[in-house]
Amino acid sequence: MDCLFCNIVNGKTDTEILFENENLAVFKDIHPKAPVHLLIVPKKHIESINELKESDKGLLGEMILQAGEMAKKSGVEKGYRLIFNIGKKAGQEIDHIHLHLLGFK
Ligand code: 5GP
Ligand code: ZN
Repeated sequence: MDCLFCNIVNGKTDTEILFENENLAVFKDIHPKAPVHLLIVPKKHIESINELKESDKGLLGEMILQAGEMAKKSGVEKGYRLIFNIGKKAGQEIDHIHLHLLGFK
């Protein structure tokens, strides 16, 4: 399986990684839709929210906590949105779960 976000979070592209730990990585969206537009992406390949398992609860909590940290680091903690797109009809293009952080200054 060739997955763009698996390749990015595993360091196989030249995408700049802003934060990384054993479970997730954060990088800038290539087509920003807000002054700050980051993607919080787990290293585990999960297609979407629909494929989540009970055992992924901790990972999801970690993604949201990290999004909050990144909002503070980026200076947008007073105004940001966190978005998951699920399914083609809702605009999901990449079938590897990712949390959009859209921040406003
Ligand atoms: P989706 O529409 O699946 O929720 O979001 C996918 C996001 O990934 C889009 O906002 C798109 O701009 C971004 N994206 C697509 N390809 C790349 C890439 O190669 N590098 C980065 N950094 N972002 C990408
Ligand atoms: Zn993947």
